[in-house]
Amino acid sequence: MSLVLDVAVPLPLRQAFTYLAPENAAPIALGARVQVSFGPRKLTGFVIACRESDKTDGLKSIDRVIDPVALLDEDQIKLAQKMAQRYVCGPGEVLAAFLPAGVKKGSRGKITTLVFPIEPNATEALANGLKNKREQRQRELLTAVVDQPGGIPRQVLLRVANVSDSPLKTLTKKGLVRLEQSFEREDVFSRLDIKQTSAPPLMKEQTSCVEAIGHALAHDKAETILLHGVTGSGKTEVYLAAIERTLEQGRGAIVLVPEISLTPQTLERFESRFGSVAVLHSHLTDAERAFQWQELREGKKRIAIGPRSAVFAPVAELGLIILDEEHENTFKQQNVPRYHARDVAIMRAKIKRAVVILGSATPSLESYEAAERGEFQYLKMPSRVREIPLPEVSVIDMRAQRPTGPGGVFSPLLVSMIRHTLDRGEQVLLFLNRRGYHTNVMCKSCGFIVQCPSCDVALTFYKSQNRLQCHHCGYVGRPPTMCPECKHRDIYFKGFGTEMVEHATRKFFPEARVARMDSETMRKRHAHEELFRALKSGEVQILIGTQMAAKGLDFPGITLIGVISADTSLLIPDFRVAERTFQLMTQVSGRAGRGSRLGRVLIQTYTPEHYAYRTAASHDFTRFAEQELQFRRESRYPPFGSLLRLVIQGADEANVIKRAERVADSLRPHCFTSNITILGPSPCPLSFIRKQHRHHILLRADDGRQLEDLFQETHRDIRSDKRIQVLIDRDPTSMM
Ligand code: ADP
Ligand code: ZN
Repeated sequence: MSLVLDVAVPLPLRQAFTYLAPENAAPIALGARVQVSFGPRKLTGFVIACRESDKTDGLKSIDRVIDPVALLDEDQIKLAQKMAQRYVCGPGEVLAAFLPAGVKKGSRGKITTLVFPIEPNATEALANGLKNKREQRQRELLTAVVDQPGGIPRQVLLRVANVSDSPLKTLTKKGLVRLEQSFEREDVFSRLDIKQTSAPPLMKEQTSCVEAIGHALAHDKAETILLHGVTGSGKTEVYLAAIERTLEQGRGAIVLVPEISLTPQTLERFESRFGSVAVLHSHLTDAERAFQWQELREGKKRIAIGPRSAVFAPVAELGLIILDEEHENTFKQQNVPRYHARDVAIMRAKIKRAVVILGSATPSLESYEAAERGEFQYLKMPSRVREIPLPEVSVIDMRAQRPTGPGGVFSPLLVSMIRHTLDRGEQVLLFLNRRGYHTNVMCKSCGFIVQCPSCDVALTFYKSQNRLQCHHCGYVGRPPTMCPECKHRDIYFKGFGTEMVEHATRKFFPEARVARMDSETMRKRHAHEELFRALKSGEVQILIGTQMAAKGLDFPGITLIGVISADTSLLIPDFRVAERTFQLMTQVSGRAGRGSRLGRVLIQTYTPEHYAYRTAASHDFTRFAEQELQFRRESRYPPFGSLLRLVIQGADEANVIKRAERVADSLRPHCFTSNITILGPSPCPLSFIRKQHRHHILLRADDGRQLEDLFQETHRDIRSDKRIQVLIDRDPTSMM
């Protein structure tokens, strides 16, 4: 009998590979990384099982052990195996995603030297000693050190006291200060001035939700709770109270928020209540992230907050996972492993016997349907805190209006409403989910539309920079003066984005102070902080924004919202368009009237009869959900059944088509026997991106597990190679 190890390597292979443990070596922990020879390659894999075996013929030994102490535990290995099964990828690929890059490199943050006073000697020396003239420098230094009993970084000390190293050395020799190596803490909060706050008395609805969550936490079993609360109903307070209860039980919590909501405003609410929160932001350096990660793992911090990948945060004794805005698409990862943080949270909670709270004003239909079925507990907060009414929403039929101004951006009604709002000294938010000035550049003579050379999409015109840009690959070019096709000189621009809305707004309201919030204007450092300040002080009267402005802004001065156009989102060939439109309209509307004055929302549209607008206008989620669920049931789309999308892409279109056909052919017999519907192959709606031709196949099953079984048997045909990539996306959120 010999000791053998099952090693999961970071390749799209479902099985682990068995290696011999090195003889006479220290025991290797599950979850430790090892280096192995895999064919001609050296790979880093994870040990996922360890056992005695007598079948050791032909087994290779592992090359070396990388982690003397495992960075992942058995529960995480279990989770990785479940995820690999569900998302049709390798357990080694999943495990690799659990560890942040900085942790893999073994980084623990930048090391600095801290200087501490040695008491009571230090204070005593200041009172009675160091009186000589040549001890003046030492005295200054020591005064600074005594002021910081918690330690002061050496670099900072020397800079502040403006001295060289030598007086510090003398002080050390005299036994008045000591030096200690420590990991540098570049805490996100160090730049904010945060005052500790305590919980306000909760409202009745909040109290009963917290009670129900408390019950779930008290049971030693996993549970998922859908917290459906309208915008401004005080969901965050409920999260905070739930975390407090979790901490009281000696357990920890994870809070997942969409990346764009991870603003100083949000972080401050958590940090001010609990004092010590690990923020896993995407702007952290590898070393900073590694530091936060270790703090959690060692139980020094008990709360983690971050975007989707924080679902893997190594919180000790995990008791609670919260997903705020659980319907948001950003919770789905678009490369391997293509997981959805909501589903992973639920899987992880099952292993940990923890509670999951899914919070939203517009729950995803997946979650809502699960709540209706009784799989999730359903908690509702139908009214806003402090009885502030929801805004009054009107849908404007643009077919009956005569749009005015440059580009025909405004209906006369919206113009007069903006004027009224400004006259009352209140603020306006104008929403349009498209950037740029014009969205199309075309030839009047032959109709040619100027496209990106690498993608099959129209280029957007940015006026202030006089350039064309592709939103998919980042290509930048000059606007043509003649048609590249027919050489005609009649170039014509059409369609409008936020830059045009800004232009039109300034034209109509030359006296108003206008700002724009989109990824073009927010690129500069601290642009967010600056804009928030200007909104708060009333310096900005009209804000024009994309998605970014639709989510999470909480400014009581905003009383009017104009949705310039929402129709583009309804034209996308995706079965979730109505759901996304409803969610976006509700989120945008939620920005209005958060102060004491009633908010007004105007939605300009050419399809005013669409149920997504009608129900959003009447704040009627239930009616929207009923109608949408009926459509999903009839067309057998999720939440009724599961989808799996295969994207086949490559530089040569003929090869892509051939490969797609072959993949479909190999799947068909299995699909037939297990009653899985197969659609395609067909070109993707975005059929050419970054010089890659793209075709897709869609599989649909009543029970998602059937989709997993399919790939147990057929994985050989879907392997990517140098020329063709085959992407497998279980539960896709994009059909493009
Ligand atoms: P949501 O996340 O549901 O949109 P928030 O948690 O942001 O709502 O709450 C909306 C506003 O109401 C915030 O300004 C918050 O500080 C305030 N608020 C929430 N709960 C209470 C409470 N119990 N008492 C007083 N103010 C509250
Ligand atoms: Zn492009």
